Amino acid sequence: MREDKNRYGFSGGDRDEIRIEGLEVYARHGVFPEETSLGQKFFVNAILYTDCRRAGKSDDLSLSTDYGAVCQVIHRFLTDHTYRLLEAACENLARKLLLEFPGVQGLTLEIRKPSAPIPLPFASVSVTVTRGWRRAVVACGSNMGDKEQYIETAVHKIADDMNCRIVRCADRIVTKPYGGVEQDDFVNGALLIETLYEPEELLEFLNRLETEAGRERIVHWGPRTLDLDLIFYGDEIIRTEKLTVPHPDMCNRDFVLTPLAQIVPDWIHPLYGKSVTVLLEELQTRAKQPAKADER
Ligand code: ADP
Ligand code: MG
Repeated sequence: MREDKNRYGFSGGDRDEIRIEGLEVYARHGVFPEETSLGQKFFVNAILYTDCRRAGKSDDLSLSTDYGAVCQVIHRFLTDHTYRLLEAACENLARKLLLEFPGVQGLTLEIRKPSAPIPLPFASVSVTVTRGWRRAVVACGSNMGDKEQYIETAVHKIADDMNCRIVRCADRIVTKPYGGVEQDDFVNGALLIETLYEPEELLEFLNRLETEAGRERIVHWGPRTLDLDLIFYGDEIIRTEKLTVPHPDMCNRDFVLTPLAQIVPDWIHPLYGKSVTVLLEELQTRAKQPAKADER
């Protein structure tokens, strides 16, 4: 089976694998009525990307992912649901497994259908997907009302969302406003998260939290109850109408780079090939330059 975990760069400890091969499930997925009424055999292959080291050193099952339990969940899921497409069965089952087994950082899942209704000789048809928890960095800021509370609430809502897990949370800092608009000081912070959201879905989720915090977009770079920016999403470079990642202005923003340097100092900016620590040092050097020129 194809293995493309490297393309996805799942978060740490994903080098080991637990494999399930040829799990047989009698189920009712298909486009034709006889497929959903009579059912047929499906075979499932799964590669679970996980970290086996702690379980390996301790010989303790509770520190690993129980492949017996995974097989049971696959079996139950595929018999309890009916999908027209193998694509949908794969997509939804992959998500179910990632949510149910926290030690699984990613997985490659293949569902084979050897008795598919094709009036030609063939061995099998199948769909394979690779899905997993992706690492992302979110910066947060507030400069209106109870600033700490707005950020605190957002952090809780992110932690409570089933598609997100918080890995690290930077200390809050107080900073001066940026962009030339006269306004109150900011409280800033940053989060390293793991997420099942696609980048645009994550932005929509963050925008929803801003709206729930009563944010109104009146003045660009103006005062806000809550600002949540997507800084990095894995090492992806994204430029769409709604979303630019890495965040285009992050390298000029001390209030972004300082919290980032605390939680992800070695994260490499995929466009500049420099770590967060180096980007912060360069920004601080640039900030000092005019003063040096004056001294001369
Ligand atoms: P800023 O965060 O730069 O002060 P705003 O929060 O007012 O500016 O602007 C947010 C807008 O920028 C949103 O409408 C959003 O679609 C867009 N945007 C583009 N890329 C990003 C990103 N990486 N993170 C957050 N918003 C982004
Ligand atoms: Mg923003």
